[in-house]
Amino acid sequence: MRCLFCAEEIKDEATVCKHCHRDLSIVKPLMDQNAALTKRIDELQTEVSQLRTDLGEVRRMGRAREAFDARHTLSYSAILYWRGYLARYVLLPVLLLLLAHYLMNITFNIPLIYLRVVSLAIGFGLGYSMFWRTDDRLGTVLVVGSIVAIVTVMSMSIVVLAIRGGGTIAPANQTEWRDVFEYSIGIVLASVTGNVIANFTKKTFPQGADPKDGFAAVAKTIARIIGPTYDSKTAAERLQYIEKALKAGTAAITAAVALYASIKSAFN
Ligand SMILES: [Zn+2]
Repeated sequence: MRCLFCAEEIKDEATVCKHCHRDLSIVKPLMDQNAALTKRIDELQTEVSQLRTDLGEVRRMGRAREAFDARHTLSYSAILYWRGYLARYVLLPVLLLLLAHYLMNITFNIPLIYLRVVSLAIGFGLGYSMFWRTDDRLGTVLVVGSIVAIVTVMSMSIVVLAIRGGGTIAPANQTEWRDVFEYSIGIVLASVTGNVIANFTKKTFPQGADPKDGFAAVAKTIARIIGPTYDSKTAAERLQYIEKALKAGTAAITAAVALYASIKSAFN
């Protein structure tokens, strides 16, 4: 250690400095204490820096874990969503179509045209419920309707194949191809029509957006359009409202005409 007075190097046990001959007996305990405290501070600093490093690591791991959990939760809820979506808008309509086909065509042998009408009604219901339940727009309905039609036609072919006990899945001739094509197009058109009509209904009866409230909404809307002093709608607002309803109505009529054409072709 160093002498407190002259700063020369002396032995740790020395009580008198050999350089300046000053008495160290009184200051010695303080110097020892000071040295011990300095050492302790060094140790604590090392410990603190180690803990800081550890804490940083723990935090990093925590963040990584949180990010992983968030991704996992997200993908899990996405799986749940798509599973429900597929069950409701693909599996359910396909099963209904197959059931209708089985009951009407195979079990009761009802004329084919009734099966066509029921199939179109199922397609219509698909497009209509897709609009109300998921707010899906025409493009999505077109795709989902096509998938439903294709899956249904293929399932029917497989059933027919199993009953016949052989042959090919593909339609045998031009007439069969045309039937399959018309049937599929009919379902797609019906779902598009259902969607357009749902859209029309929502635009026309914005207050009664819930289809269960249909009658109240119709009454309200009629009152709003023709009633002279129904709430505080101005003439311009009312015109805008009628224009919107007309636009949606035109789309609905176009889709309905296309649907009618496809039903008509089934009669020929
Ligand atoms: Zn000294």
